[in-house]
Amino acid sequence: MFFKKRCSLAEKGNRESIIKLYRKAWLGGYAIGAFNFSTMDLVHGIHETAIAMKAPVIIATSQGERNFFGCEESVAVYNVLKARHPPTILHADHTKTLEELKKVVDAGYPSVHFDGSGLDYLTNLEQTRKAVEYAHAHDVFIEGELGGIPGGSSLHKESIKSVAKEEYLTHPEQAKDFVNRTGVDSLAVNVGNAHGIWKDAPKLDFKRIQKIKELTGKFLVLHGGSGIRPIDFRRAIAHGITKININTEMRIAFEKAIEQGLAERTDDTPYKYLGHAHEAVAKVVRDKIVIFKSEKKA
Ligand SMILES: [Zn+2]
Repeated sequence: MFFKKRCSLAEKGNRESIIKLYRKAWLGGYAIGAFNFSTMDLVHGIHETAIAMKAPVIIATSQGERNFFGCEESVAVYNVLKARHPPTILHADHTKTLEELKKVVDAGYPSVHFDGSGLDYLTNLEQTRKAVEYAHAHDVFIEGELGGIPGGSSLHKESIKSVAKEEYLTHPEQAKDFVNRTGVDSLAVNVGNAHGIWKDAPKLDFKRIQKIKELTGKFLVLHGGSGIRPIDFRRAIAHGITKININTEMRIAFEKAIEQGLAERTDDTPYKYLGHAHEAVAKVVRDKIVIFKSEKKA
């Protein structure tokens, strides 16, 4: 069983340095991978790969992952990693209330995502504006979201068509209005993507990505990266995506590796059977860094 840990450790991030990393990626034609973690095995698998490949990297936690790992613990780990390899960003994925956003900002997360996509447009606008005000006052980089990104970070049996609805897509003109009125640093968009891995690969709307990029001038974020074809990642980056989130593939690799480690173990030493997970996660990260072209960009 796990319990909720408090988030109270206050330490400022550095918004300007994060903006510089994103800008460098956009101008350099590559994307920064954002990989989720909830255990140290995942953190090691992600971060050691990033160091070995000299790639800037984002380590992220969803709300459930934060509750499990602990906000203060996440920030403490981030401070250790940052000292070893500067282009590392700790990011709070999908905070859905101002209360949750303030909690992670106060804990010392240097980067946050405020997801008001479940709200009606004007409420999303108003809540995101308040979130931006709080984040910027604390030197924190903030990602907004417009257009709902359906699905959870898991393996789905259905076709992605079952959740790919026109009403979820991000509309370029509305995106322009949204970023102008909220002041977000980056924007998560729905361009045909969904969380999780589906029976078929998503059909991304590259023209929509390009139009949103042209009208907003903001860094664009692609959620639900697991299951997207390598060629589509490349095209998405070329059309305006700068950050790509990967979670489901990590979860699946981790689970399979643990199962294998347990099946093959000859004694009860945790680091022996957990070692499989470390390498399995590293493989996912390595493949994505190559596809995102962020190798040797740190
Ligand atoms: Zn997401």
